[in-house]
Amino acid sequence: APATSSTELNIGVPFSFEVYPPRNPDLREALNKTILELAATGPDFISVTYGAGGSSRDATLDCVKFILANTDVEPMAHLTCVAESYQGANELVRTFLDAGVRSFLALRGDPPEGTQEGEDFLGDLGSAAELTQLIHRVQAEREPFVFEEEPRWHAGATRLSQKREFVRIGVAAFPNGHPQSRSKTQDIDVLLAKEAAGANLAITQLFFHADDYLSFAQKAKEAGLTMPIIPGIMPVISPGRLRRMIEISGEEMPSDLEIALEIEPTTEGQREIGVEHAVSLAKELIAGGAPGIHLYAFNQSGPVVDVLRRLQ
Ligand code: FAD
Repeated sequence: APATSSTELNIGVPFSFEVYPPRNPDLREALNKTILELAATGPDFISVTYGAGGSSRDATLDCVKFILANTDVEPMAHLTCVAESYQGANELVRTFLDAGVRSFLALRGDPPEGTQEGEDFLGDLGSAAELTQLIHRVQAEREPFVFEEEPRWHAGATRLSQKREFVRIGVAAFPNGHPQSRSKTQDIDVLLAKEAAGANLAITQLFFHADDYLSFAQKAKEAGLTMPIIPGIMPVISPGRLRRMIEISGEEMPSDLEIALEIEPTTEGQREIGVEHAVSLAKELIAGGAPGIHLYAFNQSGPVVDVLRRLQ
């Protein structure tokens, strides 16, 4: 392992970042610079989002390859299966494994625009759990079986065990419920199904109050979930960013934060409000037992790195 660089940050728990592929080629260079700045802080992984319906397959792949080639940080590729045939999903997974990716965020994905939940465009795989199983299956097929002989466990018999390269498969968790979910219990059940399918990590949708996460994590544990659930945090550094966050998550607008951002006249002042809000949320989560934090970087390193520095 490379020597710890002086820019690495230590907040007591692992942290990770999320970026999205550049919307157009002109933005690629800026994103690469951001990735290098984020990588220098020593994250556990950097995840790269994936456009629904395969629209940005190459963009996600390029971004992940950049991380593999230019940093020591593990890239985590988000993959969605909505509107994919079984064969298409198979090829998609194989492409990323062939590129050297060993961490995934397996998602069902949102229905493409103009279509509705429940229509049959949804493709051959109906849920993130099925995609999780597929990733394990494709990886198993790619790797020839390696049998290792274990010590004799009773006279005359040897047990053979299979060793395979570890593949990290994260999945989405919704502390305040997926917009389509019928009850809070269903969200826990879906997460249990994802773990049973082979997921070993969950990352949450955005939320505003530490207790949303802490009570959800507690209920999941009581239901038998064992994988870590990492809270997703976004520094809300402008009223526009707040509106975008509400749009993505479907959460209710937190009036205190909205008012604070709206009445603050300067960009710097708004940035400070957003960074401080994320810092105090992260502090409460870590104190409450969160096993790490995942920061939505919005393709900018400044605010998220500031959050981490204040958590040191
Ligand atoms: P699932 O958990 O499979 O759920 C889909 C629907 O099926 C839900 O209504 C669920 O309640 C229901 N369901 C699932 N399993 C069962 C079951 N066993 N029985 C009954 N009902 C079930 N989207 C993108 O397009 N690209 C991204 O890069 C992306 N990144 C994300 C990152 C994070 C951290 C999060 C939280 C979300 C992300 N999303 C992304 C959004 C995600 O694709 C949507 O939330 C999508 O609507 C659901 O995906 P899922 O993986 O949660 O699906």
